[in-house]
Amino acid sequence: MKVKEVMLWQWQPGVSARTGILAGSAALALGIGYLHTLTGLAYEFHVLFILPVLLVAWFLGARAGYGLALLAAVVWFIADRILAAEQADPFPLLFNSGMRLAIFLGGAWLLGEMRRVLQRVTQLASEDSLTQLPNRREFHERGRRAFSQARRQAVPVTAVFIDIDKFKEINDELGHDAGDQLLVTVAQVIRSHVRESDVPGRLGGDEFALLLPDMNASSAMSYAEKLRQRLLAAMREQCWPVTFSIGVASYDFAPHDFDSALAQADALMYEAKNGGRNRVQQRTFSGAES
Ligand code: GH3
Ligand code: MG
Repeated sequence: MKVKEVMLWQWQPGVSARTGILAGSAALALGIGYLHTLTGLAYEFHVLFILPVLLVAWFLGARAGYGLALLAAVVWFIADRILAAEQADPFPLLFNSGMRLAIFLGGAWLLGEMRRVLQRVTQLASEDSLTQLPNRREFHERGRRAFSQARRQAVPVTAVFIDIDKFKEINDELGHDAGDQLLVTVAQVIRSHVRESDVPGRLGGDEFALLLPDMNASSAMSYAEKLRQRLLAAMREQCWPVTFSIGVASYDFAPHDFDSALAQADALMYEAKNGGRNRVQQRTFSGAES
């Protein structure tokens, strides 16, 4: 099974990683300056000064890159002054330093912008624009990853499929905007109900899904029932007369086929609909069945 890796532009360094990148890059700029003084003007060691600038701009953003650009230009200037101490006219060196700084600043801006745009595009491609929950594509990607991890850890897993009952009536009677607001509220309740390891998603229309790793059948049933009650309470608050049909497929061992597990939860959701709506329908599978 294909496991999606975190792309280079998706990695968000934490505080200690940011400090490490910043300190390491500053040390790299100083080290390159020192080696430049050792190797002399005959060797173009100085081209490496751009490296710490680009490193910081990529991982910490353009503004931090500007700081490194200034540091690298100053270190390069000092190293050149040491190497050409006897040169009487300081103007060429000052001019060159200005040019280098401009190129470093431009490189930092370009790379910072590139990363920002890539992150935005990735976000738009993976997020449902109305609710900000993972969209269908992203949900499937994360779901497959969560399933393979659950298999490796030999823990149970549960797939939940949620469909709003009579949602069309809200659109018809209160308007599309009220319908949108209802979907946003449902997403908020779902988001507030999940653990960090859970995977929520909006699959489209009024369909939502949840993937619950390390949740066995009995916990899953009470979890889903509690979620339904919370959703109903949020709907009552707004006087929206909708209910929820929820299908819950629990697996003692995560099956290899994530899609068919989700299809089982979908089928159980339809059983809940056919059984009169406004209920949770659950079934437990061994894992080998799917
Ligand atoms: P059932 O009880 O059988 O589930 O019927 P339902 O009225 O909930 O209707 P159904 O689930 O078949 O269809 C969902 C409707 O949701 C169809 C579509 O008009 C509406 N819809 C889909 N996407 C959006 C959206 O983004 N915003 C709004 N306001 N409505 C949407
Ligand atoms: Mg519906």
